[in-house]
Order: sequence, then structure tokens, then C-alpha cells
Amino acid sequence: MKKIPQSYIQYAVEQCKILQQIPSPTFYEEKSAAYIAKQFEAVNSEDTVIDSTGNVLTKIRGIKSNKPIIISAHMDTVHALDVDLQIEETEERITGPSIGDNSLGLAGLLTILRYFDDLNITPWQDIWLVANTAEEGLGDLQGMKAVVNMFKRKPMAYIVLEGLGLGRVVIQGLSVQRYRIRLEGDGGHSWVDFGKPSAIHEMTKLIENILAVDIPKTCKTSINIGKISGGKSINSIAPSAEFEIDLRSEKNDVLQTYIEAIFSVIEQSKIPEMRITWEEIGKRPGGMIKPGHPLVQKIKQALLTYNIEPKLTSGSTDANIPLSQGFPAICVGLTAGDHAHSQDEYIELAPIADGLSAVIYLLNLLWEKPKPSRRTPGRKRN
Ligand SMILES: [Zn+2]
Repeated sequence: MKKIPQSYIQYAVEQCKILQQIPSPTFYEEKSAAYIAKQFEAVNSEDTVIDSTGNVLTKIRGIKSNKPIIISAHMDTVHALDVDLQIEETEERITGPSIGDNSLGLAGLLTILRYFDDLNITPWQDIWLVANTAEEGLGDLQGMKAVVNMFKRKPMAYIVLEGLGLGRVVIQGLSVQRYRIRLEGDGGHSWVDFGKPSAIHEMTKLIENILAVDIPKTCKTSINIGKISGGKSINSIAPSAEFEIDLRSEKNDVLQTYIEAIFSVIEQSKIPEMRITWEEIGKRPGGMIKPGHPLVQKIKQALLTYNIEPKLTSGSTDANIPLSQGFPAICVGLTAGDHAHSQDEYIELAPIADGLSAVIYLLNLLWEKPKPSRRTPGRKRN
């Protein structure tokens, strides 16, 4: 299988650098969206739309439209609006914030569009290219939720592009749930009111009790209390304190049982003169596509064709949403690189040709009709 021509790789790198220069924190993706909409419209103004969550969509019209393929890449980054976006370039790599996650993923969308347009290829089924919002941080996959809500079970495949992680194929979306738990009391003077409940003292006991809950062992499950805050001054009984918990599991039902156990500990910890309240600050449902599913088999075949070793794995990506509803979905990386989410994030340039070629080849494989099985006698060949 030939690689896509070098001119398209150059185009992908150019677009990647342009997109990287546009600050695009979660909930502030408008500028990226406007740029991408302009590129989409230049090819297909009729079918380019921005939906109510800020997602930009366009269509490569196919012969048929009953089983479209959705290719998406998220526009948001973990970096603030005022982050220094300067890049460093060598022959081998480009370094800079969000260059891989996810400027290259977005550039992949634009390159696929241009490739199909230049070569006048009419795909067998419609291909929808989607630049979506709210994948990172507290975005809670709102963009992808809207996409899946629009297409539901119709697509033959949801393919999520990430710039980094060449060879990685996410087939399992981790279930993630996040809470902020707050304790509030009257506070008081550290000496005069000694004996009154302190939000900080009670919080530390509560955290200890939560961490003492048995972690399920049937599948990988994790807990992290990543942030605490509270108190007023060194000689005040703390009137309030709060902490944030991030809970993850490979299986949703396991996670739910674990969360129930944690909340029964919280219930039992209630004491007079101390209010405990909580809010859910994130919910990413999990799900999985079977390793034997044709979509997984075909991406493996496509990657191997370009000598990329496929690694089936789990993660928390936009693919969580279709996977959680039982729709075929994968998340794939376009090149090698590292240090995602940091200032010195980098992508390697040489493997982009293979990464992009594999995704385009995957599309061809998806349209192939399944060969009739020899074991089924009397079945008509077509
Ligand atoms: Zn990403």
C-alpha cells in the first residue's frame, strides 16, 4: 500500500503549526472553530455547520449515506489563553504546547478533506469530519456528547484522531466520575472554642475513611484525591474545607459499586454542627469495543500495513461517548511524540506519513464488503 504523497504531509504539518498558534482552552475554542470552519467551507460550504456546542462539522459526500463514518478531533487544549505558544523546530520534531494534543489531530482532519477533494474521490459512504469542543479537563466530553446525540447508532464507525500515540488504539473508555466534597461548620477561636468541630480535622478523618474503603480488584480501578483546600487562619477553627476526588474504573458497574461504598462512608461520617455536601463535577461513562470487532481488526491491519505495531489499550478520550452507548469507536494517534499537556510537548515528523496513510487506508478497508463465509452453505456470493 502506497503512502499518501509527501505534499499532503507538508500540508498537514503547515496546518498543524497554524492551529497550534491559536489559543484554544476548553470552553474557549471559538477561534480554532472559526479557522477550521473556513477551511471546511472552502471545500464544501453547503455541508459545513457549527452546532450549538461549538463543534464544526463538514461532510465528504459518499455514494451512500446510510452508514456514515465519523472522524473527529478535539479542538480544546489544557493551556490557558495567555500561554506562550512559541514552537521550536528541528528536522525531526516540532516542540510546543498542544502541538500533538491536538493540533496534529485537527490537521489530520483538514488533510483528509483536502486529499479526498484533490483526488476527486467519492467515498462509498459519507464521511463526516468533526472538530469538536470540550474534551479536556472539566469539558466533560460535551462536544462529543452532542456529536453522538446527532448521529446516534447510524455510523459504521466513530474514529477519534489524536496527534500523539502512534500505534495506540483505544478500544476501552474508562469510566470516570469526579466529586467535590465540602464540609462546613461554625468555626471559632482555636483556644476559646476548643472542642467545636473543625472542618479540616473532620475532612482529614473523612479522607482517611474514604481511602480505607476496599478498592475493587476485579478490574483496574483507581481513586485520587488531587486537591484539598480550606481553613481561615492558624488560630481559627476551620469553618470550611473541601476536596476533590477522581474515580476511574475499566468497568462502569464496578465503579458504581465503589462509589456507593464511598458515599455510605460519607453518610456515616455526618456529625452534629458540621454540614457535609457534595457535587458531581465530572462524569465520563465508559465502554468497550471487542478486540475481535471488524473495526478493531481493520485498524490493526491498516497500521501493520505501514509497519506500525498496534497496541490495543484503554483511556479516557472522546471515544468514551460512543463506546458507552455500544457504538463502534476507536481513538488512534497520528505520530510519535511525548510530554502531552506540557510546554515541551513534541511530535516527530517522520512517522506522520505512516500515521495518516493508515487512517486513510482504514477508510478503504471499512468499505470492503465482508467476504461470504465458506462455512455457510447455500449462501449467495456477491
Ligand atoms: Zn487530546
